[in-house]
Amino acid sequence: MKTPTVVRVLVIPAALLLFFLGAVSFSTYPAPAATPPTPSATPTSSPTPLPSPTPLPTPTPSPTPVPSPTPTPTPTYPPPPDEVEVPILMYHYVEELPPGADAIRRDLTVSPEAFEAQLQALAERGYHTISLTDLYLHLALGKPLPERPIVLTFDDGYRDAYTVVFPLLQKYGFTATFFVLATPAHYESPNYLTWAMMKEMADAGMEIQGHGRDHVDLRNRSYEFLVYQILGIKEAVEYHTGKPVRFFCYPSGLYDDDVIAVLRSAGYWGAVTTQYGRVHTRENLFTLQRVRIRGTDSLETFLAKVEGRY
Ligand SMILES: [Zn+2]
Repeated sequence: MKTPTVVRVLVIPAALLLFFLGAVSFSTYPAPAATPPTPSATPTSSPTPLPSPTPLPTPTPSPTPVPSPTPTPTPTYPPPPDEVEVPILMYHYVEELPPGADAIRRDLTVSPEAFEAQLQALAERGYHTISLTDLYLHLALGKPLPERPIVLTFDDGYRDAYTVVFPLLQKYGFTATFFVLATPAHYESPNYLTWAMMKEMADAGMEIQGHGRDHVDLRNRSYEFLVYQILGIKEAVEYHTGKPVRFFCYPSGLYDDDVIAVLRSAGYWGAVTTQYGRVHTRENLFTLQRVRIRGTDSLETFLAKVEGRY
């Protein structure tokens, strides 16, 4: 049988074009699961099949790990609750006010003396600090929480988190979650935590979590930009601390659906906002609400916020 040369000449560029268009559509956001583009169909009239794409080499199977003879028993928990009330306190600076601090800076800054008084009050009232991982495991698996649980979070990874907050937390036997940035650590900015400080804090039981590579508004961004900021901070912190990053804090509390989609695909378990609230559910793990502690808070207003009376 004779091959129709014209058909063959036309079909090959058409197949390449379809393949190319497929590749282009796969590169646009949102990226679907990585299935190879279907090769274009070969016309049945052509007796000579078009060259099919070279199949990827079959990966060599890695050796099957030898199962442990004594598997760790999975703990059994009571059924998880539909919701749980836990205050997640939000701090920024804990230090003496710098000269000429404006109203915003004063609002964001709690003095070391006021902060210690707050920790002392929490300890006297029987509060137990938990991590966001503890909160997640309680809602997902029913893992029990201690009496009077509370989460302490510190945004932006300022240097005072190491010089002021960290030693005071240790003095009272508390832990906290710190949402950090990668770029100031990379350049060893004197106002921010270094990687070595984060490692020391993580080794002492503090949670170092993600706030983005940079402190930028993540709304209306490309897929690539979101991956850079969201996966980038996760990989950087995990590399430097050796501990997993599972939670994110939206810079300036700003996010959209694309941000949440990239967080989920990057393996995060949840994210905190700057919205007020203290009741959490499995459905709002990526919009966790917090209680803002201000520089103007007295010990009375602080306790009122902790106890949900404010
Ligand atoms: Zn921030």
